Amino acid sequence: MNQEARVAIVTGAARGIGLAVARRFLQEGYRVALFDIDDAELNHAATQLQPSDSVLTIHCDVSLPSEVGAAVSQVERRFGRIDALVNNAGIAVFKPLLDTTYEEWERVMAVNLGGPFICTQAVAPIMLKHGGGSVVNIASISGLRASTLRVAYGTSKAGLMHLTKQQAAELGNVGIRVNAIAPGPVETAMAKQVHSAAIRADYHDAIPLARYGTEEEIANAVYFLCSPGAAYVNGQTLAVDGGFDATGIGLP
Ligand code: NAD
Repeated sequence: MNQEARVAIVTGAARGIGLAVARRFLQEGYRVALFDIDDAELNHAATQLQPSDSVLTIHCDVSLPSEVGAAVSQVERRFGRIDALVNNAGIAVFKPLLDTTYEEWERVMAVNLGGPFICTQAVAPIMLKHGGGSVVNIASISGLRASTLRVAYGTSKAGLMHLTKQQAAELGNVGIRVNAIAPGPVETAMAKQVHSAAIRADYHDAIPLARYGTEEEIANAVYFLCSPGAAYVNGQTLAVDGGFDATGIGLP
């Protein structure tokens, strides 16, 4: 293992977009820590990733400050530094406003918005020991445009885009850039759970490229934002959405 190699933490990395992001960082020579609450998926992910001595999997619920603190300390002990943090862990509740319970609202906020707040607070001091780093928050087009069924999810992601600006404003002058990606629909377990046939048809009509994105297409954009090529990009949300946001064609 190269002790000088850069280190990335990816949350919600056991599957889906997070797993593709972890794979992308490994391809670039990073050592990668994967945080997730799904131990079975996490173990399965670990068997797929190479080189194995550059991979660390940790059970961590990003909505719990004590678990995040312990997990981040474990990464520092094992790898000695942290250069990139990808706040990807997220959950989706797609329900009408009047049917969404306060418990569902609170859990979505705790994971999608609280998680990136907690993780960034825990990681930033360690990034600073090696001169800075880069944070990428995974938001969503549901935070760019309002539509039915997404009162909790969309609001959490809109909040995350503003949190990105707040974090960029405070951390830029110490050498930490913070940006967000707003993915369009991607065929993951989450999409299978909440995208009905009607939602799929709506996206098809509203996205100029007329297809879902892939996990790898999101991972490429995440890696770009962490790379030297994005050295002057800070506080931005990049929509990786096949043109959905550009057209203004609405969802119901
Ligand atoms: P996914 O459900 O396939 O993966 C999410 C992962 O996060 C899972 O492994 C899950 O166990 C983990 N997770 C959930 N709660 C957690 C917690 N409290 N702590 C740690 N890990 C937790 O979903 P995905 O589609 O890969 O989504 C990844 C991110 O991309 C999410 O933030 C999601 O909101 C966002 N996103 C997804 C889509 C899409 O269409 N799939 C579109 C836009 C944005």
